[in-house]
Amino acid sequence: MVHETIPKVELHCHLIGTLNAPLLREIELAGHRVLVRPETVRPVGFGEGPQGFADWLVRVEPYKSAGWRDYLPVLEAHMQRLVQQGVVYAEMMISPMMFARDPDALVDEFAEFQERVRSSERGLLQVEFLFLVPRSLPDEAIDKDIARCVALAKTGGICGISIAGLERDCPASRFQRMFGVLKDHGLGIEIHAGELGGPEEITEALDVGRADRIGHGIAAFRDERLVERLCAENVHIEFCPTSNLKMGAARDIASHPIGRARDLKMNFSINTDDPGSFDCTMDGEFALIESEFGFREADFEAVARNSLAARFQRNLRYPIELWKNCEAGSVETVLV
Ligand SMILES: [Zn+2]
Repeated sequence: MVHETIPKVELHCHLIGTLNAPLLREIELAGHRVLVRPETVRPVGFGEGPQGFADWLVRVEPYKSAGWRDYLPVLEAHMQRLVQQGVVYAEMMISPMMFARDPDALVDEFAEFQERVRSSERGLLQVEFLFLVPRSLPDEAIDKDIARCVALAKTGGICGISIAGLERDCPASRFQRMFGVLKDHGLGIEIHAGELGGPEEITEALDVGRADRIGHGIAAFRDERLVERLCAENVHIEFCPTSNLKMGAARDIASHPIGRARDLKMNFSINTDDPGSFDCTMDGEFALIESEFGFREADFEAVARNSLAARFQRNLRYPIELWKNCEAGSVETVLV
């Protein structure tokens, strides 16, 4: 298939969502501690929707509060899988709960975490991190999260934040103060919007959240004026097709808007969201899109180029062969 020859960039993947039975078995066999029995981690089925995902989260409950040391073998096993699929750059969402609460201790722990990640990259894959901020975060916790994000922004720990969770219950406007401070410190803002919510959540993410990227965004295609705006402003959308099918956000793959986005030459990436819980891979997502919408080499190259250009980490650590075909100025100069 055409997509197999093109290096891939993933911008939307939750670290906790990489957990599945084969990965847990692999790390246990390698002698690492696992916090749940591998055989109990069954992926979400088609049509199970948000309840199916909530049930999956219960099955991996101990990992919701796990520290970074327990996540390292998970991340390293996942990174090997990414390399096998030709992924050369990935941004992953992680929980601030993995690290110390105190900002100074957090910076030290994160530096140690980053060092381990860099050595696992082996020059084949660059992995960067966004702190995940749940929409349901209590008001009193917002200021603490701002302080921790700023501490890590100053030391080059994280490159952005992501707001995720049930859109209708918790508007992104609650985080307005946070967005301004974090932008001033050079962090990128990603907001999950227009997944199970409507076009209005996307508009709010752009206007109030000053989002650099929209996670999912499929509800935009119910509002032609919003589609025009996304095109005109070249807003990057992180599409996650299998996730949308399993969560019930898209009825079937034929009705997914990614084909239309390609026709409109929109700016988007193709992602797994939660490859463990949704039992999907980058290769699988690309194959699905290629067979359903007839994406060609030029389409996937545009996806790769737009995805890399939408990254939050400006510095690339390794030369990436693909980008010799990029239009001049569409991406940052490669730094080695
Ligand atoms: Zn997500």
